[in-house]
Amino acid sequence: MADPATETFTDVVCAFCGLGCDDLSVEVTGRDVRAIGAGGGALCPEAARLLRRRDVADPVPTRAGEAVSFEVAAAQAHVLLREARAPVIAGLGVDMAGAGALVDLAARFGGVLDHYASPGLFRNYAAAQRTGWLSVTLAEVRNRCDVLLVVGEDPTPQFGRLFERLYPEAPLFATGERRVIFLGGGPGDKARGQLRGAQVSHLSADDVVAALEAISGLLAGRTLSGEAYGGVPVAGLAEAAAALKGATYAVVTWNAATLGGGDSAEGDLIAIRATAIVDALNVTTRAGVFPLGGRDNIIGVNQLLLWRLGYPLRTAVRAGGAEHDSTLFATGAALEDADLMVWVSALRPEPPPRFAGKVIALAHPETVFETAPDVFIPVGTPGVDHAGTVFRMDSIVSLPLGALRVATLPSVAEAVRCIAEG
Ligand code: SF4
Repeated sequence: MADPATETFTDVVCAFCGLGCDDLSVEVTGRDVRAIGAGGGALCPEAARLLRRRDVADPVPTRAGEAVSFEVAAAQAHVLLREARAPVIAGLGVDMAGAGALVDLAARFGGVLDHYASPGLFRNYAAAQRTGWLSVTLAEVRNRCDVLLVVGEDPTPQFGRLFERLYPEAPLFATGERRVIFLGGGPGDKARGQLRGAQVSHLSADDVVAALEAISGLLAGRTLSGEAYGGVPVAGLAEAAAALKGATYAVVTWNAATLGGGDSAEGDLIAIRATAIVDALNVTTRAGVFPLGGRDNIIGVNQLLLWRLGYPLRTAVRAGGAEHDSTLFATGAALEDADLMVWVSALRPEPPPRFAGKVIALAHPETVFETAPDVFIPVGTPGVDHAGTVFRMDSIVSLPLGALRVATLPSVAEAVRCIAEG
């Protein structure tokens, strides 16, 4: 038999980190998929890794570790859901159709709904709920921002093409030299490479909260009595405050998922202080926040819950009603009271958290499980095996994903519908 022809797809949309790059080139030979470029530039490692598919046989569904047909696995999942007292539907790395089917499943069987990447989202909510915030879109940063303050660690390892997307060589409206000030960790080589057209500076801080408070004080016209705050000399803080105040369109950005080195209280505080700087700037000029996030369509899933249930992630659906609690219904806390976890991760092989109760996994075919789930149904990947829709991190743009090859696995939406029917 002749080897299958190689087809090249261009302008492929990437659903993985939330930046929503839509300029990828992908080669497909039969069932073999390989990303080969991005917008004429370097491919990001995350997209290269997650779009790589080899022409190998799919894993089959299992029940208690034994191979079964899809129908048997779906029927067993139905039984487990029917018998469950307190299910948690977690992971939620899905496209919009999959998320809609999972909300239907929760409405029918009850369950807590949470995304595995929600800690970062709720740190941002802590800031937005206390004071509100003026957020900007990716297009506004691209085209208008002239001073960008990056708080915390360099986000490039999580968002591979961030600065290429935020600071293109020819913005529509920003004129003159564009500045980027890193406060906290310094920029890595990749970030510096993507920012070669901008003026980049770094204020190394051992306490980012204290440094942000000092900048706020300077913006408010206060005189600082100390020599350094958060490990940053006052001269550096004053220069950053002056640059922000003198900007035409300043933007403050941070990756809430990595703020505070895992200390959630410190992470909340950093987001709150960063937001306060933007509030202070908006008295005399134009400024906004651009919080980073959006991994595996968390923004789209969160919006869907808001439309359908009136509450964000970390919501329990039970007895015909919905109840939201950002602490009690976070995955880890919710699992303490649960007897069944439905783990859903179609976009990447994210393994489920440890759980002593029953587990139904609707998961990426390459997922490695520590313990075989009670039911495992391998599912196709949106944007590779089937079409779908996801949301970009700034929540205003929904991105259409196309299929790159003929699907041999069900989508999450298809699998969930079969489970619901039993
Ligand atoms: S930066 Fe994000 S959206 Fe862009 S190609 Fe990489 S993983 Fe995909």
